[in-house]
Amino acid sequence: MSNFRNKLISFMYGRYGMDALYGALLTVSVVLAVINIFADSWILSTVGTVVLVYAIFRCFSKNHAARRKENEVWLKIWTPVGKWFGGLIMRLRDIRTRRYRRCPSCKATLRLPIKRGKHYVKCPKCRAEFQVRIVL
Ligand SMILES: [Zn+2]
Repeated sequence: MSNFRNKLISFMYGRYGMDALYGALLTVSVVLAVINIFADSWILSTVGTVVLVYAIFRCFSKNHAARRKENEVWLKIWTPVGKWFGGLIMRLRDIRTRRYRRCPSCKATLRLPIKRGKHYVKCPKCRAEFQVRIVL
């Protein structure tokens, strides 16, 4: 068992390993495989397999500079999308108790307790005071 472990360690030495793009590719591959259970399409199967092979290729690659560059491009695309989804999930979770409003001067998003009607709010970030109207 120790021999196998040493061989695995020596095989993985210098390999790129896993990163955010690897996780995304693996997720896409699994999602395509699950959809393909119902759709039974050779196109989905082929695309899922290609994505999986690319993810494994990236994991075992020794060209760190190229893999890092790909991951940076992926993160540049994914980070704003992930933040938007995170904000959406937070808003849905708090829909019964909180309302979200944007500060007109510093554009920060404020999480306000539900207090119906017009009232003034002071932004904790820039100290600007502005009027908000909460209907529902
Ligand atoms: Zn502000």
